[in-house]
Amino acid sequence: MSRKQILAGNWKMNQTITEARNWIRIYQAGQKKGFRTDVLLFPSFTTLYPVSKEAMKAGITLGAQNIHEAEHGAFTGEISAKMLIEAGAKWVLVGHSERRTLFGETDDRINLKVRRALFSELRVILCVGETLEERNAGTHQEVVRQQVINGLQDVHKSDLAHVVIAYEPVWAIGTGKTATPEDAQEMHAAIRQIINSEKGGEIAEQMRILYGGSVNKENAAALFACPDIDGGLVGGASLKVESFLSIFRAL
Ligand code: PEP
Repeated sequence: MSRKQILAGNWKMNQTITEARNWIRIYQAGQKKGFRTDVLLFPSFTTLYPVSKEAMKAGITLGAQNIHEAEHGAFTGEISAKMLIEAGAKWVLVGHSERRTLFGETDDRINLKVRRALFSELRVILCVGETLEERNAGTHQEVVRQQVINGLQDVHKSDLAHVVIAYEPVWAIGTGKTATPEDAQEMHAAIRQIINSEKGGEIAEQMRILYGGSVNKENAAALFACPDIDGGLVGGASLKVESFLSIFRAL
């Protein structure tokens, strides 16, 4: 089964509206038409709407970096699915390790966010990944297994077509350390196996699983050549449009 690859850029708390516009302009000029890859960008909330037209023209689909699980209400500082959709988001990142560790998001909360997003017709990238301690202790497969099962609890098979999983080992995010293609492939195959046993073989074959964690133009080609790696979620190296384009070429 051939799965359409995805290259996604997570800008975190970087890039103003002006910087984002410049980035998209240069991207569009450097990009070839007719490519068979979904290109997604996750800018800040305030940048979504102002760049939505330019992004569409450049063939980029926008997503948000977070969502609140409630439909609306007294949640100062939070943002709802409806607001994100109105601002031009089609996707949302859920369960990023920075949300888990710095903002205390638990698997239960992450599951509520996944379900709210899907209910609202937003597509989801569910991020999972183990810490260095967990990998050294040999519990990494079990940790990721629990994150996948809990994150997708009560998500119906028909909605899973709108879910992508990003395997992002916490020790590789923003550190310059990358999982070897062999280790990444092993975990991606394990994730596909979990989906197979929990939700069925058909959706397991269809589901796109991305690798994230210090992807750059040097390591991208070897990672993306692995059979169960369907593209990448890129943080730091997505901020410079030239390095994002080089990673794109590696696909
Ligand atoms: C990320 O934050 O999702 C990420 C993969 O970051 P980086 O590429 O900088 O490791």
